[in-house]
Amino acid sequence: MPSDPPLAEFTAAYAPDDAALAAELLVTAALPPDREARIDPLATELITAIRGSEHGLGGVEAMLREFALSTKEGLALMVLAEALLRVPDAATADAFIEDKLGQGDFAHHRIKSDAVLVNASAWALGLSARLVHAGETPQGTLAALTKRIGAPPVRAATRHAMRLIGNHFVLGETIEAVLARAQAQAREGSRYSYDMLGEGARTAEDAERYYQSYADAITAIGRSAGNAALPARPGISVKLSALHPRFEAISRDRVMRELTPRLLELARLAKHHDLAFTVDAEEADRLELSLEVFAACFADASLKGWDGYGLAVQAYQKRAAAVIDHVAELAGALDRRMMLRLVKGAYWDTEIKRAQERGLADYPVFTRKPMTDLNYLHCARRLLTLRPRLFPQFASHNALTVATILAEAGNCDGYEFQRLHGMGEALYAQLLAEHPQTVCRIYAPVGGHRDLLAYLVRRLLENGANSSFVAQAGDDSVPIDELLARPAALIGNAENARNPAIPLPRDLYQPQRLNSRGVELGDRSALAALLGEIEDARRTLPTLASATPEQAAAAVRAARNGFESWSRTSADHHAGILRRAGDLLEQRRAAFIALLQDEGGKTLDDGVAEVREAIDYCRYYASEGRRLFGEPLELPGPTGERNTLALRGRGVFVAISPWNFPLAIFLGQITAALMAGNAVVAKPAEQTPVIAEVAVRLLHEAGLPREALQLLQGDSRIGAALVEQPDIAGVVFTGSTEVARAINRTLADKDGPIVPLIAETGGINAMIVDATALPEQVADDVIASAFRSAGQRCSALRLLCVQDDVADRVIAMIAGAARELKIGDPRDPATHVGPVIDAEAKARLDAHITKMKREAQLHFAGTAPTGGNYVAPHIFELRRASQLTEEVFGPILHVVRYKAAEFDDLLDDIAATGYALTLGVQSRIDDTIARVVARLPTGNVYVNRNIIGAVVGVQPFGGSGLSGTGPKAGGPHYLPRFALEQTVSINTAAAGGNAALLTGQN
Ligand SMILES: Cc1cc2nc3c(=O)[nH]c(=O)nc-3n(C[C@H](O)[C@H](O)[C@H](O)COP(=O)(O)OP(=O)(O)OC[C@H]3O[C@@H](n4cnc5c(N)ncnc54)[C@H](O)[C@@H]3O)c2cc1C
Repeated sequence: MPSDPPLAEFTAAYAPDDAALAAELLVTAALPPDREARIDPLATELITAIRGSEHGLGGVEAMLREFALSTKEGLALMVLAEALLRVPDAATADAFIEDKLGQGDFAHHRIKSDAVLVNASAWALGLSARLVHAGETPQGTLAALTKRIGAPPVRAATRHAMRLIGNHFVLGETIEAVLARAQAQAREGSRYSYDMLGEGARTAEDAERYYQSYADAITAIGRSAGNAALPARPGISVKLSALHPRFEAISRDRVMRELTPRLLELARLAKHHDLAFTVDAEEADRLELSLEVFAACFADASLKGWDGYGLAVQAYQKRAAAVIDHVAELAGALDRRMMLRLVKGAYWDTEIKRAQERGLADYPVFTRKPMTDLNYLHCARRLLTLRPRLFPQFASHNALTVATILAEAGNCDGYEFQRLHGMGEALYAQLLAEHPQTVCRIYAPVGGHRDLLAYLVRRLLENGANSSFVAQAGDDSVPIDELLARPAALIGNAENARNPAIPLPRDLYQPQRLNSRGVELGDRSALAALLGEIEDARRTLPTLASATPEQAAAAVRAARNGFESWSRTSADHHAGILRRAGDLLEQRRAAFIALLQDEGGKTLDDGVAEVREAIDYCRYYASEGRRLFGEPLELPGPTGERNTLALRGRGVFVAISPWNFPLAIFLGQITAALMAGNAVVAKPAEQTPVIAEVAVRLLHEAGLPREALQLLQGDSRIGAALVEQPDIAGVVFTGSTEVARAINRTLADKDGPIVPLIAETGGINAMIVDATALPEQVADDVIASAFRSAGQRCSALRLLCVQDDVADRVIAMIAGAARELKIGDPRDPATHVGPVIDAEAKARLDAHITKMKREAQLHFAGTAPTGGNYVAPHIFELRRASQLTEEVFGPILHVVRYKAAEFDDLLDDIAATGYALTLGVQSRIDDTIARVVARLPTGNVYVNRNIIGAVVGVQPFGGSGLSGTGPKAGGPHYLPRFALEQTVSINTAAAGGNAALLTGQN
């Protein structure tokens, strides 16, 4: 749908500096004195109404007051609410209830609110909790409970309470029921915007189902909409993430091609009924794409003459004002009107976490609440001046925000307020009574209980924080004056705009080290810049000759000489070289990503992550090395004696690394050995020699003496020749269990000192999913764990174990999500799954697929491009976990079902594989998680998340059993394994007597 003339692109900076923004906002914050004077009385009136009315705090607010998020009960209730209604089997539901109720003091919970709803839940939970005696083990409690009264009454009471709560916050389960309920209130003048609940689509079927439910809802709303004209007509809110299974920046072309026409069809239908139609605001990394889809659809000539098309904008985002200007310009260019809902934003904690994980330069959202409020008012003023081109819709439950907007707007109209169903009732009742010219639209969620509680939990999280207005208004001990403090006054000056307790992502690990720099793929300009740099850096790969066994012997001799001088230089010196290497890697990341793509078949995402990991190794080992090797450790002892313990290098370490992390593992091994004072002979995998060559050059450029590090190219024969050398002091190896065993045998056969081996091998990594887990989250985490990097990670998921009560739905969702992956050229940023490393690997994997097709049930077989070493993702269901006897290093996922009652057998089966590298648990039951962790000695356990991408210093990596010797790479125990220990005891009394003691006596 090309528009003519082409629409302007949204180009605002993704995460600008807070202080610069604050300086601008502070200057424009003040209202003329007459308007300013109106705010306090009005806001006071609203707060008094909220606090005074008998049911002032209805709905969510009452819940919050009763079970604040800061209490154990609040958290337990929230988790219980979120998951209980999707648990189909009684046993899991009971275990879950008991687990959560055991965490709080529900039995002694004093009921403060008289709201029927809160009483019901407190009663039900209190009743249940009183049955769980303190000090009993969960299993014991459940047994005792069941014996005395049976678990069903507890379950029934709790479910009933949850349903009551749900009914209160959601207008109804179907659009028809909701419209009937809304009609009564609509007669009193309320406007509605309906929202179809649900998590985003993971599969094409999900997207189709959401599309259909939006289309049906629009038709139903349209039929009952009456005769009023816009804006006084009802509306609908749609989420773009519900309409497409890969609504993400890297899939931009596909999204534009597939999602835009779908959105347009819905918009046309809404136009047909002359409804309000709002595109909800989602996560910051989707903003640019949302705007593009939004604009392309809006520009379509078929929507001309309709004023109901609209967008939600989040004021916690630093780009909010730029978004408003952008859409106003768009509306101007097309000479049309649209609606704009201003919200503060619902995903703040997620945004902060994501920016930290991705190592961004700054946050896309503000980090102080008054900055969000200040920006909201700034945007509100902008919107009011942009009328009638834009119809402002102010969504807030904050009395001060509402009062300020009313003072700003004066008595004019051409805008509306909005609130969520179940929230802000008293506030808006008072406002509408005192200011009858104002209008408030209610955002009304529609959906079944399963989806409703996830929505409720989001609302609780968003409004339960201490900083939230709703939480403060609900707390009578907070003086009204405090609630009237203006955001500009709270900020004071621009230097205070940032929250000092939230470090920039780069400083997350300070003072120890800098975090490695990442990239936001949802930031179009950052992505384009990186892609440009990668293309500029791309070179034809040279062919490198393999070394000979004689050269292996010579390399060890040369390194032995190098060791003499390297081991005598200080830890500070070693650390300085490592830090410089980290900085150089960061400067040249584009060149390394190009190499990783061309030689290692890595996608853009994987390339970025791998360079970051390599940088983190350099910085982490530098900082650990200074701590451990800097000054000797002083030990306690008798007077007249000094005892110290120091670490020093062992000699020449042989480092043998794999092709799947040709930069990160290669450099991780080398930098650890060097930092510990050893010289190194490194042999990279024969599939990825060029990356190794360039990385070694970089280390030398950073100041590493040539003789301290020898690089030897070649295949396993060269590795074997190195391990056989008599004069080596240690081997660090990452690769298969089989080769690790061979190395171990060679070392054991030698005479002379026993040579240590640090081996990190593979795993049959499992993920356990019980009935309390959220299927959408499971789908995301399984797809990433099993198929990212084409499954070629030691940590990748091989065996998914799903409770059989939910298995059909979970497996279908995972298969549907796998179908949406793009398999192809790793240099294309839209690719999710690249090739496997070589033809040999492909042949092995293809053979396994053929075998599995005979022996297991096929749930999904993807389609790979022809030519090249592509293997499409596959999903097979096995009868038992024990059918999988070896690590299958590719994008092939095996699934088994387990019965809740046979959970221990499942754990035994996993233990019986003998591997113990990574393990995932998806459950809301803490006791289940504790049981798994206690039973299985797996090196890296991940709970309710994916199981790959261990971060250096955060999730030290490595396993036990058949998975390796330990210690964990990127962890605090790694460097000492490369070193010798030496104690020095000095009798200080021998020379000159015990002066210290004598002085002390005096
Ligand atoms: C009709 C309606 C539609 C909505 N649609 C959307 C939507 O499409 N997308 C969406 O994201 N949300 C949406 N929301 C949710 C909305 O974002 C929240 O309800 C809103 O943030 C609460 O704001 P408030 O003024 O009522 O509360 P307040 O308590 O005054 O403000 C809470 C806001 O402050 C932010 N905040 C808290 N701590 C900090 C901090 N340290 N630094 C910076 N900011 C902080 C919170 O994240 C939140 O945004 C909608 C809400 C309504 C009423």
